[in-house]
Amino acid sequence: MALIVQKFGGTSVGDIERIRNVARRVVETKTAGNRVVVCVSAMSGETNKLVELANQAGGDEPDPREYDTLVSTGEQKTIALLAMAIQQLGHGARSFTGAQMGMLTDTDHTRARILSIDTSSLEAVLAKDEVCVIAGFQGVDDQGNITTLGRGGSDTSAVAVACALGADVCEIYTDVDGVYTTDPRLVPGARKLPRISFEEMLELASLGAKVLQIRSVKFAMRYGLPLHVRSSFGSDVGTWVVPEEDVMERLVVSGVTYNVDEAKIRLKGVADQPGIAARLFTPLGEAGIVVDMILQNFASDGTTDMTFTVPKGDYRKALEIAKKVGSEMAAEQVEGDENIAKVSVVGLGMKDHAGVATKMFNVLAEEGINIQMITTSEIKISVVIAEKYAELAIRGLHAAFVEDGASEPTTE
Ligand code: ASP
Ligand code: MG
Repeated sequence: MALIVQKFGGTSVGDIERIRNVARRVVETKTAGNRVVVCVSAMSGETNKLVELANQAGGDEPDPREYDTLVSTGEQKTIALLAMAIQQLGHGARSFTGAQMGMLTDTDHTRARILSIDTSSLEAVLAKDEVCVIAGFQGVDDQGNITTLGRGGSDTSAVAVACALGADVCEIYTDVDGVYTTDPRLVPGARKLPRISFEEMLELASLGAKVLQIRSVKFAMRYGLPLHVRSSFGSDVGTWVVPEEDVMERLVVSGVTYNVDEAKIRLKGVADQPGIAARLFTPLGEAGIVVDMILQNFASDGTTDMTFTVPKGDYRKALEIAKKVGSEMAAEQVEGDENIAKVSVVGLGMKDHAGVATKMFNVLAEEGINIQMITTSEIKISVVIAEKYAELAIRGLHAAFVEDGASEPTTE
């Protein structure tokens, strides 16, 4: 008898009819001979509404403990409704809040980390052949304070519980039917990937393919737990996210992604001497700003240029810090640009396939797109370009790497 954890996102439980639909699916899975734990998000739009209320009552930075107490209620509503709907179909079901399911976290409100999960109460209910309906996104600290795991955190709840229970699979039901080679809204030729490795999924998730919260993929990778991303509105097989050794086709490029949520800052003409990078990036780090790409030019005349990217939400603050540090270091100029896009190609097959970068640069050159920054990792190449060319770049790269069959599996 398999143990299956199913996670349903906000749109999948958006109204009562959809909740009934989820209940039917859960019951189907159970009557097929499986034990089922189902993890749900708040009904779509609910968390945003709660955040708005928090801001109305508590200002721009509401007290984090009270914020968590409030925003976690969205999931509490859904678990009770779904448990009732499953009971209506004649099956036993029981809801669990974070505290009730033993989801112990630290006290870092609004972005708490999971410390441990005591699965005994879940297991007792499963042993009675009933369905466990658990609240995503929330946990409890050792003092009994309600915590939340950050926006999109239900994915992480589901995967963490699946790992703790030693489940056979965690199915992520969502409003898309799998992981695509690129954004299908931009590129009609985008296709669904049958299988993808955790590593590739991590790169895709962090590059802006918003299918799964990154932390959930990290969890699954650490425990080797297969994920199945699929649509809650049909019964098609979606995309399996699995260990690298279980990926049969090592595509040279499995995904082309873009991210327009970053901004670029450049310090021109800073002294080329030890300690400069430390002086710049220390205050940024202290301000909680996560720097993504960093580029330092080859020095000439004893000075160099330093360029880096930060999330758009931190741009103003980062620019202010860079200007302050820049003037202390007698930089010639400090300038910023919010209108950039980071475009990346990702694929396991790059590990044993040369020439991907060259081809990428050629495609961009043919489209007349200027590259401002480049970074690479073992399975990814990213470039920063002007935001207005993002779509053009994605279409060109997808055509060259995916549609033209250039991404044929490497044999190895
Ligand atoms: N309801 C939470 C959010 O909207 C958690 C989730 O849906 O994953 O961010
Ligand atoms: Mg989500």
